[in-house]
Amino acid sequence: MTAAPRTSWVDSANDPTSDFPLQNLPYGVFRRDGTTRIGVAIGDQILELHACAHRGLLAGLPGEIAAACSAVRMNPLMSLGPASWSALRRELTSLLDADQPNAQAYETLLIPMRDVEMQLPAAIGDYTDFYASIHHATRVGKLLRPDNPLLPNYKYVPIGYHGRASSIVVSGAEITRPSGQTKPTAADPIFGPTRALDYELEVGLFIGPGNSLGHPIPIASAEEHIFGLCLLNDWSARDLQSWESQPLGPFLAKSFATTISPWIVPLEALAPYRVAAPMRPEGDPAPLPYLTATSQAIDLTLEVYLQSRSMRDAGAPAMRLSTSNLRDLYWTPAQLITHHTSNGCNLRPGDLLATGTISGPAEGSEGCLLEKKLNPEPIRLPSGEQRVFLEDGDQVALRAFARRPGLPQIGFGECTGFVVG
Ligand code: CA
Repeated sequence: MTAAPRTSWVDSANDPTSDFPLQNLPYGVFRRDGTTRIGVAIGDQILELHACAHRGLLAGLPGEIAAACSAVRMNPLMSLGPASWSALRRELTSLLDADQPNAQAYETLLIPMRDVEMQLPAAIGDYTDFYASIHHATRVGKLLRPDNPLLPNYKYVPIGYHGRASSIVVSGAEITRPSGQTKPTAADPIFGPTRALDYELEVGLFIGPGNSLGHPIPIASAEEHIFGLCLLNDWSARDLQSWESQPLGPFLAKSFATTISPWIVPLEALAPYRVAAPMRPEGDPAPLPYLTATSQAIDLTLEVYLQSRSMRDAGAPAMRLSTSNLRDLYWTPAQLITHHTSNGCNLRPGDLLATGTISGPAEGSEGCLLEKKLNPEPIRLPSGEQRVFLEDGDQVALRAFARRPGLPQIGFGECTGFVVG
């Protein structure tokens, strides 16, 4: 018989529909009454870490951990590495556990989530976006090269590009439809608002200690550099992209905005949901030795929801456009980190890596609207409207959850953006 999962004295954390049970404890940065602090999500509340340190509740930990918890961004905490993250997590779990004898005295350390404004969790020095889903790469390739969708390098080298860190925004921020150069016909290119605005369903990886310049991270220790995961929407202007991307890849089609979810789920919280990485199909090459490891995938269900302005006005709920799973990536997070540093490039605490659009093999698992163009039927919304790309007033929400029998569900909170003209 297995023991019942531990619960928290914060009642809302024990609600099975909550994203934030005791087993999750994601970190976020929030602002309230003009003050910025690091907190941990528990149910519909936030445990404020600076206050915990101030009251001596983290005194059993090395001083550098309490100091990092009192910062206004998470970069110092991210730099400390897995042993420190585990020690802090054990302490916070004990503080919030239903068996905690001093629970009543700790209630003043809680702040209702509804009273705060979430901020970017870290000063993000660099942001890199990969292309790790073979299902996404194949569908996009089919639109361009129906007979030869996947280019020959794909199964050898994790493809990526350097994204723009300055335009990363936190969930809830409005996304202004970007303008740019497009070439809609054989005539000369024009400049104007994109007519092909898309989302991309992705997961972000916040980097921990990282590496010094010239010292690659071996695959065996790559996961020691993952502080935690968030949801990420790589907004994309497809018409700008198709005109500007030859031969160097995405530039202004992507750099206008990237939305992330504000709560960073520790890799350790996802340990119960690790699964074997999918076997490569028969006939695919084995990864080169520097990318070979028994690293595991993460069984995380991902969803995209769309709500148009008229749906919102009518009080209609958002429509789920697709469902996919992080476990279906061709390249694991560990492989992405090792490949990124394999030439000696340094990753720093707070850097952000993204997986690329996460799609599955089946219809209904497309991680962006571009892939859905392979289906000749446009998307029909419950309001009677149709969509090929996003319209002004559309709200796109990404969600994620990990489930396993005998454990409470762990969620990521929302990663939402609202398109304005
Ligand atoms: Ca992307």
